[in-house]
Order: sequence, then structure tokens, then C-alpha cells
Amino acid sequence: MRADIKFIEEKFARFNREMFGSRLPLPPIELTDAGTFLGKCVYRGRLLDDGRREIYDLRLRFSTRFDIAERVAEDVVIHEMIHYFINYNGLMDTAPHGRIFRSLMECINRNYGRNVTISHKSGATAGEMQTEVADKLRRWHVIAVLLTGTGDTGVKILPHVEQKIIDFRRRAMQVRQIKRVDLYLHDEPFFNQFPTSTALRIARIAPQLLREKLTGARSLRIENGHLIY
Ligand SMILES: [Zn+2]
Repeated sequence: MRADIKFIEEKFARFNREMFGSRLPLPPIELTDAGTFLGKCVYRGRLLDDGRREIYDLRLRFSTRFDIAERVAEDVVIHEMIHYFINYNGLMDTAPHGRIFRSLMECINRNYGRNVTISHKSGATAGEMQTEVADKLRRWHVIAVLLTGTGDTGVKILPHVEQKIIDFRRRAMQVRQIKRVDLYLHDEPFFNQFPTSTALRIARIAPQLLREKLTGARSLRIENGHLIY
């Protein structure tokens, strides 16, 4: 079959309901005769005055060049919806098909019996595969949640070392744009995807998603130079 707008919009609505909690607004769907891809999530980006990158004008584009099985066409729609979900929520992945993409894809394949793949040429190395298995494990993380004056939320995974945590919080609070730093301890595997470091490089995250993932987390606070659990 060759996908048309009606097919894609119907599948988008269904998978949005089943897999994304109906939280994705329907973006413009475009068809092309391109021979180099089956689907693409396209958008424009601009740098804001405060250094943040804003993504806008998100669209999903599908090629009608290839005659493919309906099931495969559905998986292509899901693949592009994962890109769309990541961009729409302003998540910063480690690569175009980075850890966030892969963990969402694997989760969907497992829970919905799908076969969504990453079609890029290089494929996953053995090392990456191992990382993905590790990404399902429950590990304890010290999570710093940062709130900026403009209402943006960022997340940072810190080494589990008291002095480094205290030091990070102190440095972060000295940054003018940062209004608040909260600390949590949690073993939710969602947080495995973020690198552990004390650098002031922070992953932006949708507040609602973060709230969801922090359910059951334990609050940490600093008192008299010590971390209190
Ligand atoms: Zn892709």
C-alpha cells in the first residue's frame, strides 16, 4: 500500500490514544515522492535571546514512493511520532536516534507488539545494545530539578557524592536565570537516559512529564552542609 493523508491521520489518532496518552496535537501531514526516506519529522528551530533553542513548525512528512505493507507503514508512522513526541516536549536526546528515542521505541515495541526500527545505516553497536538493556534497570539517581525564571524546567543527574551534590546546587543557584533547585532520590528507569555529571549543562524537560516520572521520589535537602534524606 501507499499511505495517504487519511490513512496517516487515522493511524496518528489511534497511536496517539494508545501510546502517547492523547497528548500529541495532530501536526500538518505532508506527502512527498522522496526516494531517500519513508518518513521524516521536520521542524524549524531558532535560537532565543536567552540561549535556548526553540523548535517550531513541526510537521510529519511521508513518502508515497514505496509500496509497503500496511503494518510497516504503521510502524513508520509510530517512528515519526516518537521523533515528534521528543521535539514537541523539547526533550534533548543524545543523538537523532539517541537514548530517549530508543527507550521509547523499545517500550512501544514491547508493550504493543510493534516492530518499529531505526532505519539509519550504521545500526546499533554491541555496546549500545548493552546500554539499552541497562536502561531498563532500576538504579538510584540523585536528581536535581531546576526551575528558570521563564518557567522552564531542567533536569540533571548528579553523582551520588554528598559534597558534589552540595557544590552543584550552590553553583546552580548562582546562575541568574535559575530560580530554584530541588533535589530528589529516585530509581525510576526513565532517568537512566541522562548522563551523570556535575557540569551546568542541563536537559530541558516538559514539566508534566517530569512530574509524572518523579512520582514516588524521595525529597532531599541540604542542612548545615549535609545532605538530609
Ligand atoms: Zn528517525
